[in-house]
Amino acid sequence: MQTVNALDPLRSALSALRAKGTIALVPTMGALHDGHLTLVRKARARADAVVVSIFVNPLQFGVNEDLDAYPRVLARDSELLAAEGVDVLWAPHVSAMYPEGFATSIRVSGVSEGLCGAARPGHFDGVATVVCKLFNQVAPDMALFGEKDWQQLAVIRRMARDLDLTSPHVARIFGVPIVREEDGLAMSSRNAYLTADERARAVALPEAMRTAIARIEAGEKLAETLAALVQELMQAGFASIDYAQLCDAESLDVLAAPIDRAMRLLVAARLGTTRLIDNMAVGR
Ligand code: AMP
Repeated sequence: MQTVNALDPLRSALSALRAKGTIALVPTMGALHDGHLTLVRKARARADAVVVSIFVNPLQFGVNEDLDAYPRVLARDSELLAAEGVDVLWAPHVSAMYPEGFATSIRVSGVSEGLCGAARPGHFDGVATVVCKLFNQVAPDMALFGEKDWQQLAVIRRMARDLDLTSPHVARIFGVPIVREEDGLAMSSRNAYLTADERARAVALPEAMRTAIARIEAGEKLAETLAALVQELMQAGFASIDYAQLCDAESLDVLAAPIDRAMRLLVAARLGTTRLIDNMAVGR
């Protein structure tokens, strides 16, 4: 595996790979876990070569968020990726990604405005901007993203369609189902922030979501079901709930009642100082 930190060596590495066939890109912020490695394995299965990016993107963190505290373990991540047969690790310096004078931002309206977009103003502008840059830098045949970040995936798909990024340069965007711990908690780099006590309580999130989904599917009133879900999380020790909503799975429009299309239950909640997100399919 070749590790590159600047654009020129990235371009040389890519032209060698391109001669061999198709390239898949897996963008990450590092502190890799099995969720990330699942994306890498799917990429490996679909493409001739795999490029993984590790970049803790300052643009997607709000002023009071965990940019400085975000785990950075590049040496360990690099070993994991090499063991998975990754061809290129693209780990740009912040100055390579955002050189002096950088002044461009991509905003995807609609789908990025509610849920995490409302709770974290500017977050998805930062995500869209960096992902667009990664697509332009790597020009992969496909890119893989986790359904763990359902809204992020929707924002990226919208941007790719709107900016014609799904033309020959980035042929396809694949969503990969959420990888969970044995007890059901969605894997996340931020789980490392949880104390042992918080980690034990965190399982209430997927459990309460599954209970709510059973109630929705049984035809119980949505508002009452969502209120009970919030109540259950507070009782389990969560400090606050950013949102708990049933949404149209594609547009992410918040629903007041179930509809006859794919739906998703999406929750963001804080346990101590850690913000956890999760989402699950509802209905068909
Ligand atoms: P991150 O490093 O958190 O920015 O995540 C990088 C990519 O891995 C994103 O596409 C995430 O959606 C995906 N990802 C993170 N956690 C999981 C998980 N538990 N299951 C599946 N994909 C995940």
